[in-house]
Amino acid sequence: MEKQILIIGGGLAGCEGAWQAATRGVSVSLYEMKPHRFSPAHVSSNLAELVCSNSLRSNSLGNAVGLLKEELRRLGSLLMAVAEETRVPAGDALAVDRQAFAASITSRLEKRDNLKISREEVAGIPDEGIVVIASGPLTSPALAETIQKMTGEEHLYFYDAIAPIIDGDSLDTKVIFRASRYGEGDDYLNCPMNADQYFRFVEELGQGEKVPYREFEKPVHFEGCLPVEEMAERGRETLAHGPMKPVGLTDPRTGRTPYAVVQLRHEDSRGSAYNLVGFQTKLKWKDQERIFRMIPGLEKARFLRFGSLHRNTFLHSPTLLEKTLQLKKDPRIFFAGQVAGVEGYVESTAMGLLAGINASRMAKGEPLIIPPPTTAIGSLVHYITDPRVKGFQPMNVNFGLFPPLEGRFRGRDKRRALSERALQDLDHFIGTQVNEGERQKI
Ligand SMILES: Cc1cc2nc3c(=O)[nH]c(=O)nc-3n(C[C@H](O)[C@H](O)[C@H](O)COP(=O)(O)OP(=O)(O)OC[C@H]3O[C@@H](n4cnc5c(N)ncnc54)[C@H](O)[C@@H]3O)c2cc1C
Repeated sequence: MEKQILIIGGGLAGCEGAWQAATRGVSVSLYEMKPHRFSPAHVSSNLAELVCSNSLRSNSLGNAVGLLKEELRRLGSLLMAVAEETRVPAGDALAVDRQAFAASITSRLEKRDNLKISREEVAGIPDEGIVVIASGPLTSPALAETIQKMTGEEHLYFYDAIAPIIDGDSLDTKVIFRASRYGEGDDYLNCPMNADQYFRFVEELGQGEKVPYREFEKPVHFEGCLPVEEMAERGRETLAHGPMKPVGLTDPRTGRTPYAVVQLRHEDSRGSAYNLVGFQTKLKWKDQERIFRMIPGLEKARFLRFGSLHRNTFLHSPTLLEKTLQLKKDPRIFFAGQVAGVEGYVESTAMGLLAGINASRMAKGEPLIIPPPTTAIGSLVHYITDPRVKGFQPMNVNFGLFPPLEGRFRGRDKRRALSERALQDLDHFIGTQVNEGERQKI
């Protein structure tokens, strides 16, 4: 007899996963704790609530999140279809009427055959059966405790402090020099500043517009990961003695130690992406772009992801999850959405779609699937489950995650070529595996 799937959390990932599984003829039981219990950020009793912005970001194939949307459409995503129907004007971005979006998804799921929705908090995981955990970055405390016990204390995180990540191709290598402090290797890229540049930068940091702390975020503040703008506000020299200290570094262009440096660290082994060391921030995205482009060598920086600091419950997926999104130590349990280690509405939806498809395949005794790493959805899965990733943090999709192309491409041409390859590989994957259920090699 075919098994039933339990999905915990009726957010973006849970709704997409439930739809995928139910449309494949599997019986789904979806549990959502609202309206009996709300996370500190959720306010509506509808499913698939967008907790902050109403934008699903770029819709262009020149942008990795635009590509991910196109892939989701080709994979039959419910949420992307409803986003199109409830779209509001937003230039290049896909923004939605959030009420209409959530209401339409709720009503379609309520009417769906094979799908039962229960408005109840789930605190424990049943000992048997297929389970998809899609309880999001604000998973209820009781369930978080259960997940923590199940995965081990050190594998569940409750806070995110993320520095911006920059495309390696957009750095000015005539200004930036490679060196580690005191000549101990050359692992870092260094953006040197003279005193004038430094003080202007510190002043702008102090004046930049910040995302306010939410009520539930205030208590969580570690001295070790203060936002860079707060350090700047503590005193004009604080950063020059902290993350921007220049000691042990000599600028080869001047032969002198700069007044301050911003260090960039490899984000991936290929050197296609770098993070700004110690630059976790609550600055709004437009001010991050403006102010961080004042850093010498970053004038044309392309941001693969912006910095942030917020509460977030997520797994250490590189050690815990298979590329199918199954928990390694208990493969009948899948994780989806932000709790699985991705960041963003569309990325969470994508992980819900994959978990929903795989959970339904398991229920039907079919082989599970893993999207190719050359696709946007596959690049995310491969990133969050790559055990070589150090200092794992949830990730937005970006072209830095994709395997390199054959041949030399730069800028827009490179992004276009990556998108073309992705869609070609996705179409092949859909034709050979999503429909016909061929076994994917791990
Ligand atoms: C404050 C905040 C703002 C954000 N803003 C943005 C943004 O502007 N743009 C962006 O792209 N991303 C944003 N994100 C990141 C993220 O993409 C979203 O949070 C996204 O909604 C995650 O999707 P999800 O399906 O994983 O979780 P959610 O959409 O949060 O869904 C999880 C669902 O599970 C339910 N639930 C939790 N615990 C239980 C339980 N024990 N039993 C039953 N149900 C439970 C919740 O009520 C919720 O409905 C933000 C995150 C936070 C925390």
